[in-house]
Amino acid sequence: MAKDEHRKFRKCIFCNSELTGGENGTRSREHIFGKSLAEFVSHKTHWVVPTDFDSQFTAPFDNTPTTKGSSPITNITSRSVCKTCNGGFLREQLEDATPHLRSLINGSRFSFDPTAQEMVRLYLCRFAIIVDVETSNLDLELSTSELEEYAAKHGPLRYFDPTISRTERWQLKSSDFQANIRVLVGHHSGLLGKIIEFGVVPSINPFADIAEKRISLVIGNLSILLIIGMHDFVPPQSYIELCQPDAICWPKKPFVTYDDHYATYSQTEQIKWIRQCMRQRKQRRKIESNFNRTGIWKLPAPK
Ligand SMILES: [Zn+2]
Repeated sequence: MAKDEHRKFRKCIFCNSELTGGENGTRSREHIFGKSLAEFVSHKTHWVVPTDFDSQFTAPFDNTPTTKGSSPITNITSRSVCKTCNGGFLREQLEDATPHLRSLINGSRFSFDPTAQEMVRLYLCRFAIIVDVETSNLDLELSTSELEEYAAKHGPLRYFDPTISRTERWQLKSSDFQANIRVLVGHHSGLLGKIIEFGVVPSINPFADIAEKRISLVIGNLSILLIIGMHDFVPPQSYIELCQPDAICWPKKPFVTYDDHYATYSQTEQIKWIRQCMRQRKQRRKIESNFNRTGIWKLPAPK
């Protein structure tokens, strides 16, 4: 799918102020991860993801850990946020969440208390909101036929309005943000976090003109699942939903398996094949040791 990474938004998606470009403009080049976290992550690995958010699945199928023409996930900036929001509440939320996110990413042992869970939840909701608007028709002033053409080129999700409403987005500033986003996290101890894993799975709700979205993302030992809208998808038990009323001993068992992780994707033939390969211990070891040796994620050809 074609890239759409230079699309600019007219108004800040979090406060509705006009965005202007240039050195003295109000537009921020917000890192989706936040700069401090991006730096932390990039020291450890070299993940690359397609900047096309509509990909239902990503690079494992290309037999290479990088996808041509894509940027490291930590370098993805959004053109949708003003400097005031970025330097203000978004930065505060990021600073609050960072130590806990680091522990989750490292797979450290810690007591994940409700306050920390709420901080991580708010941070991941921001991520969901940015991905949601970037994969929608927001600020695209096109006729129906032009929009159809655009969606055909850049991904069908761009035909639809954002799933998270404008009012919900503006409420991220407040401490009790309750949009229709389910935030789930799990611990993964295999190779997943070392390869490219970032997917948006759409499903169109026949009763509403919106697309429901499921975002999967793996960073280090942390597997993240964001469910936006009225999904009938049942998440694997190895994920826990934020926030729980009590502290959780992290890392929490059962750990997320490859099978759990890929269950969150659309069940295409390719995904079915990956699940089948990774379920067989011998096959999985071969794939993993090949990856450790060569950095290449290679699956046998489907029979
Ligand atoms: Zn703003």
